[in-house]
This record gives sequence, C-alpha cells and structure tokens, in this order.
Amino acid sequence: MRRGRISRGGQTVRALGFGFAVASVAAPTGVRATVRTTDAEVVRADLRFLSAPERDGRGALTSGLDQAAEFVAARFAAVGLEAAGDRGTFFQAVDIPVPQRASAETRLALGAEPLTLGVDFVPNAGSATTRAGGPLVFVGGDLGGIDARGKVVLCLLSESVSTSRLLGEAVAHGAVGVLFVDARSAADATTEGLEPLSAFAVDEVSAIASFHVRPSAIDRVLAPRHLTVARLQSALRSGERPPIDLPGWATFAVAWTPSRVRGRNVIGLLRGSDPKLGGEAVVVGAHYDHLGWGEEGGALDGRRLHPGADDNASGTAAMMAVAATLAGAGPRPRRTILFVAFTGEEKGWAGSRALVARAPKTVVAMLNMDMVGRMKGNALEVNGSATSGPWRAIVDGANVAGAGVVDALTLSYPRAVPPGSDHQPFIVKRVPALFLFTGMHCDYHRGSDTWDRINVDGVVKVARLVAGVARSVADRAQRLSFESPTWADRRPPMGCTP
Ligand SMILES: [Zn+2]
Repeated sequence: MRRGRISRGGQTVRALGFGFAVASVAAPTGVRATVRTTDAEVVRADLRFLSAPERDGRGALTSGLDQAAEFVAARFAAVGLEAAGDRGTFFQAVDIPVPQRASAETRLALGAEPLTLGVDFVPNAGSATTRAGGPLVFVGGDLGGIDARGKVVLCLLSESVSTSRLLGEAVAHGAVGVLFVDARSAADATTEGLEPLSAFAVDEVSAIASFHVRPSAIDRVLAPRHLTVARLQSALRSGERPPIDLPGWATFAVAWTPSRVRGRNVIGLLRGSDPKLGGEAVVVGAHYDHLGWGEEGGALDGRRLHPGADDNASGTAAMMAVAATLAGAGPRPRRTILFVAFTGEEKGWAGSRALVARAPKTVVAMLNMDMVGRMKGNALEVNGSATSGPWRAIVDGANVAGAGVVDALTLSYPRAVPPGSDHQPFIVKRVPALFLFTGMHCDYHRGSDTWDRINVDGVVKVARLVAGVARSVADRAQRLSFESPTWADRRPPMGCTP
C-alpha cells in the first residue's frame, strides 16, 4: 500500500494516496455522461439488485458481494467517474477479518462411525490444525492422576468445570485431543447445528485438537457398556468413579478456512477543477457489504438470507445517485470528490480503515450514508456536526427547497457522535465527517430488512441533500477545521419498538 502524501513539483500537484494528478491548468470539461440517477426508479432498481437473494446478503464470504462491487464500478464508469482504486481499476483490495470456520477436511470418527461436522461435532476455536487419533478415556471434569498420553479425553461440562483449565491439563497429561460434551445442553432436543464452545478464542491456539460433541453421538459409543452421557453425569455427581477407559478409538482431523478474506472497496473519482484545491478530496461513502446468510456474525435471524436493503443498500444507492448528480450537468466542484462503496463495514470497518490508511492527508471531509432508507416524515439525523464548526450551516444551506432539493428535510443534529460505522475511522484520524441516518427499526440485521420496506423517495431526498453538502464543502475556499466530538456510548440501540 502506498503512503498518502502530497508533494508539489513542476506543473502538477500529485495526491499520492490515489495516484491522481491534478493539472495546474483546469482540464477540459469534456463530454460527461448525464445519467439521471437521482430518480426514484433508478434508486428502486438499485435497491432491488443489491438486496436480491442472488447477492447472498452481500456477505464477505459470498460471490454476491463481488457482483455488487462490479455493479457499483459499472455505475461509476457509466456516470463518468475515473477509476481510483489499485492499478487503474475501480477496486482497492482490503483484507477483511472473518470468523474462522472448520473446512470440509475436518473429520471426527468414534470407532468406525464418522460423525457429521456441524451436527454431531464441531472443533472449538483455537483448536490445533492437526490429524491424530487415540483410545478414548473418560475424565469427567478433572484429569487427576489419569495417564492420558496418546489418548483422546472425553470431558463432561458442568458449572464447576473450567473448559480452558481442562484443555490445559489435557495438554499437560499428553493427550492428543479433547472431546467436550455437555449433558445439560439442549443440543439433542433440537436439530439446530452444534456451535463451538464460546469459552474458546481464535487467538489462543491450543497444542492439541478440541471439539464440542453432541451427547447423542457419545451415547452411541457408550451403548455397548450400557452407559449414556447422562448416566456418567449422575455417577460423577454422586461421587462414583465411572469407568475410565471407553470402548473404541477416536480419529480426527482439524483444518480451518483462512480467517481473513480479500475484499474490495469500490472507488470512483470526480476530479476537482481547481489547480490547488483539486489535490484535496471529499469522500462520499457508504458500505455495500452486509451479513450474508447469517454465518459471518452480527445476524439476528440465524442462518437465512439477510438482504440488508436499509443496511446498507440504501446508502449505496444514495451514494451512486450523488455521484450521478455531481458528475452530470453543471460545473465540476473545485475539490476532488471520491465516491467510495466500502466493504467490510460489518467486519470492523475494514474498508474505511483501509481507505483512511491510504490517504490520511488527502481527504479533507467525509460524508457517510448508512441506513438512509427508512425516512419518516422527511426527518433525517445528521450526526457528526460537532466535528467541524461550519458543518451545520453548510447542511442547512443545502437543505433549501429550490436549491436542488425539492422538499426541505426536517434535520436533527445530535450532539454526540454514534460510533460504529464508516465515519468512525475518519473522525479518529481527525477528518471532519457526517453520518446521515434515518433511524433504527425492528428489521435491523434481520431477514426482514427487504427492499419493499424502503422509502425510496426518502433515499432520493437524502442523496440530493448530500450532493448539495458535498459540492458546498468541495467548493469552500478554506478546508474545514477539525474539532474533536464526544462519542455516544454505542451505535444506535439494537432494540426497537414496532
Ligand atoms: Zn450499516
């Protein structure tokens, strides 16, 4: 990744972060496409495309997210933006952290019986990547004086048992693997998939394999001895010493998928007309990723499609509408405007952090649209105005009927900035930033966040306002000064009142 730094020399001011050079004389305007995308029909079609099942909920691990990226890039090209990603493309590569998942090579067999991954067993986070096997030995909740060398230990979970202590003891006693079984769990009463034990963390990698196993799978091994997990459990409770060596062997392999995937920001550039100010950029951004099929964390509706129409197809569609407006008719803004569809917002703002890291000095202001699809009564929350003194006057100035805005919106300016979206990495780097938001609702991070619930006219209104604000900031003689805001405790509350 190249360092962002402005150097001056000869006839050009080169903003290295994005590899765009600004000529010291204004470039000819040329012919620019004038696609009218601040139009409700275009926004509606964009929302439908981005939130369709074929887009896979735009999860980091899906091909639907790639299709969404190509869609945004094609729009940028169609409205006449320049590619400002890596090596002359619209795409900036971004490493995105994703939950570690067991890959298909992961196996566990008890005796001759292979168990089903995700149903009968699942490796715990931090399990060694390994392939081994050994005789089964039952240790209850305590390894005591048991010789576990070369063996696979079966541990029963209970309130008094510390899983991480047991795992440590198993390693110390020479075991090659640990099977944790929880007789108290409702796992057998449901057909739901089995989850790894939450006590283990990815970053604490064990020397041996560690699994969570469904009690019924263990019961099948114990059957020849007329035992069950439940009977072992009650024997332990009553102080009995149940049989130690169990029939059969356990053989297993553990392999993990990579815990980072390569994602892409989509970046289009509208070159500023001013020879000096054109080397500075205003970012108009929205994240286009979402939660996929509920396997990547953050989803509230389990393993189903999370279409993310409001979060954040709405902001993505609005951002593309702003790009069409500003790249269309009328004089170019004096400063450069970077339009960015961020990836990895749902994975710790990976995309916006990557963009900030690339061009810390070039970017002078940022406008973030995240969840702008549920406008009620023309109301819009303008967060972040405390990051620069003039923000409020600028936004109020753009919010005038007749100045490109059909309806003046009812704006609120919360004092504290909610963290938790793509404006955050910019503000942390002292870039004045706004976060436009139409409010929390009951479909947040759920399968019901669908396109038909979007207030499309509201999205268009937000886009018109943001186009006006972006132009105004881009044309100012002085760049905005930064003021440190106070942060709200957390992002908008998860709860909702239907
Ligand atoms: Zn979002």
